Amino acid sequence: MAGKMENTINRRDFLKLTGLLPLSLVTPRFMQAPQGQKNVLVIVFDAFSAYNISLYGYSRETTPNIAKLAERSIVYNNHHAGGNFTTSGTASLLTGTHPWTHRAFELNSEVAQSVATHNIFNLFKDHYRIAYTHNSVADILLKQFQNDIDELIPRDQLLLGSYGKFIQTLFMNDEDTATVSWIRNIKSKETGYAYSLFLSHLYQPLQDNLVRNISSQFPRGIPTANYDDGFVLGQAIDEISKRLAVIPQPFLGYFHFLPPHSPYRTSLEFYNKFSKDGIEPVEKPLSAFSHKQDKFDHLRERLEYDEYILHVDEEFGRLYDHLESKGLLENTILILTSDHGELHERGINGHSTAILYEPVIHIPLLIFEPGRKTRLDINTMTSAIDLLPTLLHLTGQTIPEWAEGVILPPFAQIPEDPARKIYVMRASKNKQDQPIAVAASVTMIKGKYKIHYYMDYDDLKKNGQNELICLFDIVADPEELVDLSISHQEIADELLAELKAKLAEVNEPYL
Ligand SMILES: [Zn+2]
Repeated sequence: MAGKMENTINRRDFLKLTGLLPLSLVTPRFMQAPQGQKNVLVIVFDAFSAYNISLYGYSRETTPNIAKLAERSIVYNNHHAGGNFTTSGTASLLTGTHPWTHRAFELNSEVAQSVATHNIFNLFKDHYRIAYTHNSVADILLKQFQNDIDELIPRDQLLLGSYGKFIQTLFMNDEDTATVSWIRNIKSKETGYAYSLFLSHLYQPLQDNLVRNISSQFPRGIPTANYDDGFVLGQAIDEISKRLAVIPQPFLGYFHFLPPHSPYRTSLEFYNKFSKDGIEPVEKPLSAFSHKQDKFDHLRERLEYDEYILHVDEEFGRLYDHLESKGLLENTILILTSDHGELHERGINGHSTAILYEPVIHIPLLIFEPGRKTRLDINTMTSAIDLLPTLLHLTGQTIPEWAEGVILPPFAQIPEDPARKIYVMRASKNKQDQPIAVAASVTMIKGKYKIHYYMDYDDLKKNGQNELICLFDIVADPEELVDLSISHQEIADELLAELKAKLAEVNEPYL
């Protein structure tokens, strides 16, 4: 009986019936955009700190594959996120504006309705725009921009718990997609089962089996998004690689994967890889926002994070190989970056913190352009808001007035502004339509100096302060160990006045 069903309904018809066939395959092909335009592919790994990346000088070799590929890319050595957590950081990346402009301050918030069309997808109308994220917080933003995206892959489609995903897996024929062991396992069991009627009964036992198989690949537990949705990064990379090979070109792809965001759950291959290397992190002073965690916590958290980066590094290498083997890199500008960093120092782990020290805001940026055979290092201070104008420039499109970033070197025609200020902020307690005044952090980097400004935090008030200011020379002191705000008070005062003038300017419309 089962075998019969298999013969009477093919995969395509079945998927059509169940509504699982991607829309673009059911409807007529998208109009081809003008010839010669390049594809753009933005790959974001969430909470990927430049601080822990060996390509950027970290003592543990966390990124052997990325370092090798970087020999054919432009490496931005001083690139900064717009914020220190997903909502503000991702919104800055996608809109090319500072948080005080897009107003996505609070966790799980959207950008202000008045600027909702100010996003990268809206500007790439000639491209087939496709996007996906594991991260439900970033997904809120993608959903907000959905009208400007041709294919927003549902978040649960690349999570393990998805029924739709399971059906697609059963119907998969191409051997090259079955790289994750559990897919092979299910495929081998499928003979003799009817595809449709029995699925709901088969689902649970197979799901249990699937989880058991994946568990053995992830000794610290199956990676999860938002606490309960399991996922396998390699599987998402495989699915997306397959999709990119068949969608219309030119395309703009935005893929925002959760690793190495916590929980740090590396694969078996990299488990305990660094556990005996004896590398001790630099000791740093506690901050006013420290939770006073002990040193052991920092060591363990950092170790697990670093081992998880190895997994990210391997998967990025695999993605790159996929793209190269399909010839896509000949016509694709490939971007590797993050939405914000992560830190394990000063009594703080993660990125749910007020502080804006480098590890939580300094992020990787690599640009792979077709034909590049050598590495180019850019040491200028750059910002996530610069990516949008740069990608428009590289695809020969107009940069809108509202974009706040600059075209990145080496592509800019105008010389770099040595007095350019880079801002990063967090104001996760501020309402969207209110001035930035409640529990907010802003940092401004100008030349070699970086000023931190924290205001209206309970952690400060309990010490009788309303503000906290720190000043660092991040060229001479990249670890931010020596606060210069007293010894270089004149510089601190000058920079603070500039920063406050900027805040007053951006707050004005909301007073
Ligand atoms: Zn994030």
